[in-house]
Amino acid sequence: MVVVVDTVSATPLRPRHPEKVNRPDALSPPKPDWIRVRAPNTRGYAETRNIVKDTCTRACAFCNVKTGMPGALDPDEPEHVAEATFKLGLAHIVVTSVDRDDLADGGAAHFAQTVRAIRARCPATTIEILTPDFLRKEGALEIVAAAKPDVFNHNLETVPSRYLSVRPGARYFHSVRLLQRVKEIDPSIFTKSGIMVGLGEERHEVLQVMDDLRSADVDFLTIGQYLQPTRKHHAVMRYVTPDEFSNFEKVAYTKGFLMVSASPLTRSSHHAGEDFARLRAARAARSR
Ligand code: SF4
Repeated sequence: MVVVVDTVSATPLRPRHPEKVNRPDALSPPKPDWIRVRAPNTRGYAETRNIVKDTCTRACAFCNVKTGMPGALDPDEPEHVAEATFKLGLAHIVVTSVDRDDLADGGAAHFAQTVRAIRARCPATTIEILTPDFLRKEGALEIVAAAKPDVFNHNLETVPSRYLSVRPGARYFHSVRLLQRVKEIDPSIFTKSGIMVGLGEERHEVLQVMDDLRSADVDFLTIGQYLQPTRKHHAVMRYVTPDEFSNFEKVAYTKGFLMVSASPLTRSSHHAGEDFARLRAARAARSR
């Protein structure tokens, strides 16, 4: 064995995921042709903004965000996000955050302030939030919903049987209930959720997730292929074929979703602006 000691770098290189470095490498199968396509860029019309810092208090097996103790919130951030939204002339913005289990409200008030600041500065911009689960943060969801975002997105990420190895800090039924509560509080808010496939789930489990989300009155479902960020992350168990995705999409529509996006490259916030316009049109058509 050879040990290399770096005596040159001013700052020693720290691993991005110290909690994952000792895991054995997880090998994924080679990517099929249908995955090797560049994701489209929708900047200029819609953009995603991350608030409440870039370090997460959780360590989901699929996620490439840093894990650790995040710093204090920036009280001026809501105004800064609103100003950036104005300067970029965005028609639609997605505001998202890491999980903040360290905060008493999980960052809920900060989300709400950001939504209100954007609304005040850019009244024509539609606002989508992609939130953590606020697990064990009583009253947090109500604070966020009261700010009236246009779209409330919270991703289930995977089927319940895979939670322990894929999303260990979360609880499946809590996440479903969170989405259901948003609709109970304010039925005018569109609700949205997504899962990744290729993490070892069975087809019947994906169909069960669809039923659970419809029971929670969720409007919009996204399903995309999981891709492994590094070998220390969960392996891709399987590449789901484009035909299987299109079958998921058809089945989901029969279950009553207003909108469904299911394809290998579907991602929760891609095309968010265009999707919001379609979502609104679908609701209007259904209420006629
Ligand atoms: S809670 Fe969200 S940001 Fe944090 S590790 Fe899990 S997926 Fe990533």
